[in-house]
Amino acid sequence: MNLTQHYSNYTTENHTVWTILFERQYQNLQGKAIPEFFEGLEKVGFDRDRIPDFVEVNKRLKPLTGFKVVAAPGIVDDVLFFQLIADHKFPATVWIRNMDQLDYLEEPDMFHDVFGHVPLLTIPVYCQFLAKLSQLALQFTDRPDVIDLLTRIYWYTIEFGLFNRNGKAQIYGAGILSSVGESNLSVSEESVKFGFDVEQILNTPYIKETFQSQYFLISDFKELLAALPALEKALLRLKAAQPAEV
Ligand code: FE
Repeated sequence: MNLTQHYSNYTTENHTVWTILFERQYQNLQGKAIPEFFEGLEKVGFDRDRIPDFVEVNKRLKPLTGFKVVAAPGIVDDVLFFQLIADHKFPATVWIRNMDQLDYLEEPDMFHDVFGHVPLLTIPVYCQFLAKLSQLALQFTDRPDVIDLLTRIYWYTIEFGLFNRNGKAQIYGAGILSSVGESNLSVSEESVKFGFDVEQILNTPYIKETFQSQYFLISDFKELLAALPALEKALLRLKAAQPAEV
């Protein structure tokens, strides 16, 4: 399993693409992302001029929350993903898009995985939620259908979650943080927003091909942690209600 980033393989174009994306989204997220995201960016020490080196990032990250970034070993399926996270390893892809793909990507690249996800891995309560959600997923490895439902919670929080800060929507989901278009849409009046609700999210399939049609807002990360017992209960109920196909 390849879990290292071969840093010297990055080309000048790779670093330039990082710089363009970083500068554009850093500006665009002002007033839209939660302040903790910008604090996290400072803490992990990303440099706008070059792709982050995971070895350097981990030296800063690990003392804060115990998490480290590892190079994703090819395609990471749900179970492997949750195993890595439960082990406090965040798998990040190491490739970055080309200059001619700045705005459209079929698969997330390292700008998404690293710029979008890693700054929040500096926040202990956020990391606790991630680790506990993953441990919960690992209780259902015999039931991919139940893991699929749990993944909706991951999707509408870690990837596409918003905060409600004094009536104003602010972004913490990595899928939004790394997308110019979606960061503008998600916090605007145009998007449909609901309060965080485990049952409702379990009933909401996610959208991979385009922007989300709805978002769920939390008031703080503790709200996510506090929802885990209800999630576990709901998943056990769904598992019992629909026996595995034989
Ligand atoms: Fe992601």
